[in-house]
Amino acid sequence: MLDFKQTDTNLHKNKADIVALSHLFYAKNWSLATSSNYSMVLSKDPLRVLITASGKDKQFLCENDFVTVDANGDLIDAQNSEHKQSAETLLHTAIAARPGVGAVLHTHSVASTVLSNKYCSKGHLEIQGFEMIKAISLDNMKVSHETCIKLPIFANSQDMVALSKLVDQNYDSLPKGFLIAGHGLYAWGKDLSEAKRHIEGYEFLFEVLLKSGF
Ligand SMILES: [Zn+2]
Repeated sequence: MLDFKQTDTNLHKNKADIVALSHLFYAKNWSLATSSNYSMVLSKDPLRVLITASGKDKQFLCENDFVTVDANGDLIDAQNSEHKQSAETLLHTAIAARPGVGAVLHTHSVASTVLSNKYCSKGHLEIQGFEMIKAISLDNMKVSHETCIKLPIFANSQDMVALSKLVDQNYDSLPKGFLIAGHGLYAWGKDLSEAKRHIEGYEFLFEVLLKSGF
């Protein structure tokens, strides 16, 4: 079993890594207007998840802008009493509880918003024929440019309990990510760098599809 127990040094590094990623994602226009949440698993049993506090400007995110939550999304340790967890925390914890997941990232790009809205009635976005598909690591499957990824699209909702149950029920068929219609992308990985690669791969592919007239 992986040991996710954190020392203070590790916690400091984890926050610094997420802060750097936040500034990068903001610069790419994937996390504007305080949107997006980024989380990292601190321990699996019991589940402890470090996640960006609600309403933080991702351009200026700093190491004080985090909270720690449990499997129910309840606060364990807010560094600042004014810090609250995001409404979307339950989506992060539903994924973070799964074996092998070390980080969950959520972005609100223009491309993911447009494509998820356009293909919502179909239930998924089909992606095939691009070299960048190899950026996505799928369990028990060798991925090539010919791999057809059907990225699920769930209807947008403010009912995060219902949405997180939907994600949980469909988890085994999710290609390390999913879209919420008219809203954005969730992607995850065994650690922060793999989750980052999945977000970057998917966001690249979305832009390719948009520019190809899909
Ligand atoms: Zn969101």
